[in-house]
Amino acid sequence: MTGSAPSGKSCVRMTDRSKLLVVGALTQRMETRLTEMFEVCTPSAEDRDAFLVAEGAGISHAILVGHALLDGAFMDQMPNLKIISNFGVGYDSIDVEAAIARGVLVTHTPNVLNDEVANTAIMLMLAAARNFVQDEAYLRSGKWETEGSAPLSRSVAGMTAGIVGFGRIGQAIAEKLTVFGTNTVYHARSDKGVGYKYYADLTEMAQVSDILIVITPGGPETRHLINAEIMAALGPQGILVNVARGTCVDEQALIRALQDGTLGSAALDVFEKEPHVPDELIALGNVTLLPHVGSATVETRQAMGDLAVDNLLQFQADGTAVTPVPECQR
Ligand code: NAP
Repeated sequence: MTGSAPSGKSCVRMTDRSKLLVVGALTQRMETRLTEMFEVCTPSAEDRDAFLVAEGAGISHAILVGHALLDGAFMDQMPNLKIISNFGVGYDSIDVEAAIARGVLVTHTPNVLNDEVANTAIMLMLAAARNFVQDEAYLRSGKWETEGSAPLSRSVAGMTAGIVGFGRIGQAIAEKLTVFGTNTVYHARSDKGVGYKYYADLTEMAQVSDILIVITPGGPETRHLINAEIMAALGPQGILVNVARGTCVDEQALIRALQDGTLGSAALDVFEKEPHVPDELIALGNVTLLPHVGSATVETRQAMGDLAVDNLLQFQADGTAVTPVPECQR
């Protein structure tokens, strides 16, 4: 049953049930499962502050779907908050240190999206190398008939692909790359001791790479990790693929490098100020652009939703979570 709440707010009222704040939009399947256990509160983004003033003290659980900023000030509006479940593996929009300081557990959805995001990285790499988007536009524009065959593209076989970030998804990308005949190398904070060459120095790896695939977490530590120096090292024939976070790449430096030919091409799923994409990027012919759809299939989003809900249900049952973020496991 739906009870009344201050204007513009919505809570499915169930007496004696813990109150769950939803930031973002739940799928129907998530909502159905959560409503069985919680009083689910779904204030709109505009009404959230007013809602928290009125009801924040009663909120014990929260779920984040999307990339809204959840900082310490936000958490302070919910003094009884115990857990934030993040729908997604990347949790750079949640201030985890602030959460830990307030005794709030943070969970995320690792592994269930590795394959899908790795597939997106591979698709972007191939699209950039093979001029996939430009060739399709060439056909649609009628140029095939009027001007003949489209220009030749590049083969990735024999190219060196440098993966920046070699965790769950980075290693899934490396595995998938084996069938394309690339020489795969990687950079991370530490040597994984696996069967790929490790570069402690990112510039050095960019110099030997034809393709860079970025798949680190976002946040201050990786902000502008891919800067003008790295783009210059990758070079005028180089392909930059970013499926990590927009903040990992210096977007203004990227636009300059693509405009002046310092960098060959870029294929991007993520941007610094989503959903805004700079006009300069949209105007460029040597870029392939996706609207942050790395994990966005029905099947993978369902698996992510199931895990995000499982974390809340398990926490409600016994105070533990299935997949807490690493900082909360220490
Ligand atoms: P993960 O298993 O934690 O792997 C992260 C990797 O990044 C690790 O190898 C880590 O190095 C490396 N790294 C962290 N900070 C670094 C730094 N400052 N310099 C160099 N390397 C650094 O994470 P994952 O599950 O693979 O996910 C990675 C990220 O992908 C997520 O955090 C998210 O931002 C992004 N993502 C994007 C989409 C999308 O839709 N486009 C979807 C899912 C995930 P060490 O191993 O040495 O610590």
